[in-house]
Amino acid sequence: SGNLILILGDQLSTAVSSLAGADRGRDRVLMAELHEETTYVRHHKKKIALVLSAMRHFAAVLEEEGWHIEYIRLDDPENTKSFTGEIERALDRQPVERIVVTEPGEWRLLEQFRQWSQRFGVPVDILTDDRFLCSRSDFAEWASGRKQLRMEYFYRDMRRRTGLLMDGDNPIGGKWNFDAENRKPAKPDLFMPRPLHFEPDRTTADVLGLVGERFGGHFGDLEPFWFATKAQQAKAALDQFIEHALPSFGDYQDAMLRGERFIYHSVLSAYINIGLLDPLSVCRAVEEAYASGAVPINAAEGFIRQIIGWREYVRGIYWLKMPDYVEENVFSNTRPLPDFYWTAETDMTCLREAITQTKEDAYAHHIQRLMLTGNFALLAGVAPREIHEWYLAVYADAYEWVELPNTLGMSQFADGGLLGSKPYAASGNYINKMSDYCRDCRYDVRLKTGPDACPFNALYWDFLVRNRGTLGANPRLGQVYRTWDKMDPAKQTSYRESAHVFLTTLT
Ligand code: FAD
Ligand code: SF4
Repeated sequence: SGNLILILGDQLSTAVSSLAGADRGRDRVLMAELHEETTYVRHHKKKIALVLSAMRHFAAVLEEEGWHIEYIRLDDPENTKSFTGEIERALDRQPVERIVVTEPGEWRLLEQFRQWSQRFGVPVDILTDDRFLCSRSDFAEWASGRKQLRMEYFYRDMRRRTGLLMDGDNPIGGKWNFDAENRKPAKPDLFMPRPLHFEPDRTTADVLGLVGERFGGHFGDLEPFWFATKAQQAKAALDQFIEHALPSFGDYQDAMLRGERFIYHSVLSAYINIGLLDPLSVCRAVEEAYASGAVPINAAEGFIRQIIGWREYVRGIYWLKMPDYVEENVFSNTRPLPDFYWTAETDMTCLREAITQTKEDAYAHHIQRLMLTGNFALLAGVAPREIHEWYLAVYADAYEWVELPNTLGMSQFADGGLLGSKPYAASGNYINKMSDYCRDCRYDVRLKTGPDACPFNALYWDFLVRNRGTLGANPRLGQVYRTWDKMDPAKQTSYRESAHVFLTTLT
């Protein structure tokens, strides 16, 4: 008998390490659609549909390539609903020499997999996921002995290691980072590119039926469903992005516009995270577009930094800090997540727009996540665990290894500042500068306090003052606290009262 190779729903690549040393003639591949995985948080319907459809398409590819596949469908009456249960059933069907799996993206699953060899009396090989450029142990080595884990230094190492945008030992363009050029607000433009949309095929249509039936109560709109579910489609989406949106990606990376959900972003994270696109190949394609003169350096560098810098870095942090990381809560916040995160029913135009598109497309771009929904939860003092579970549920690209450090660390500062030197807290002024949301808002961004003032304004000060014990010594906030101290006491009181009045209206 051969080995049993387990392939997870986010490992849908023929180059995955668990298949690399496998033998088509002897080994069996197990893939399973599991209730446990679809419901441990109540994922967006589009996200469940994407993963299930991509799994079915991928299984068909493997079958065509001559692999022996055992594919367990969600509605199979024998489905035990968990990986451990499905491994047990597979071993009952036929004994194996070893169980082989590429390491999962979540602590919860790794813990489960580690118990298998004892439980089943079969050796279990948990292989490195070499779709990532920096392994967990490489990251731990990089981090050890450093006082601060600065992304920028990690990123430079990754540039050197991959040779991306390098001219020998030097960064192309003479600088490592062109972010200073990437903070422009955008203007509405009839010709703004859109990510490619794909018509559901038979396989996807079947999955949509199943998801509609089984997960009707989950957040989000199932249709229209337009995601790529196969590697060739994801590649077409990448090509379209590089040709039409990448040239402006850098300039407008932080911009937000009403009715423009994607601006010049790639909308590729959901595909990369499940294996339909390989991150290094994506970066090489972007580098090539730069080399051919089709895109400027600030766009190519900015994009590549997100992938070999931020994406790898947050994964490293996740594995370095779990399992305790998820419990961190430096501000001791306890507020439940406001209901409008699920309904989009709020008068705050910026949040309504971001949450509506999240509901419809399971997508919001980085600045919407960080400076709208994230910033608001931070200022309002929402419990980090609640906002973490929201992000994990609502985005098509959300997997704990990437979502948790972004939410708990970058956006909520709940780890006390591992990822950033100060919290991403901002008043309405920032949102007004980077977007056109405020023009049509029932609140006035220029008013500081009172019932018609933009709520972000008073919440911003209330957050800083409320958390002075934790943040007061932060050198990057010195100026801000000095401004507060110089403020007229009546004005201070009015800020705090406005914030409190607003917070009591949250349900
Ligand atoms: P683009 O703007 O086109 O960026 C290109 C690629 O870079 C992305 O596809 C992604 O692979 C990578 N990338 C960019 N920023 C980051 C980052 N901060 N961390 C990791 N990768 C990055 N990203 C996820 O993939 N899954 C998540 O669950 C997730 N949750 C987030 C939660 C919060 C609170 C915040 C602030 C950010 C989160 N991000 C997450 C990071 C980022 O917002 C998304 O990767 C990005 O918006 C995806 O859209 P895009 O493909 O159009 O990205
Ligand atoms: Fe958002 Fe305030 Fe602007 Fe309204 S005024 S859109 S609440 S930032």
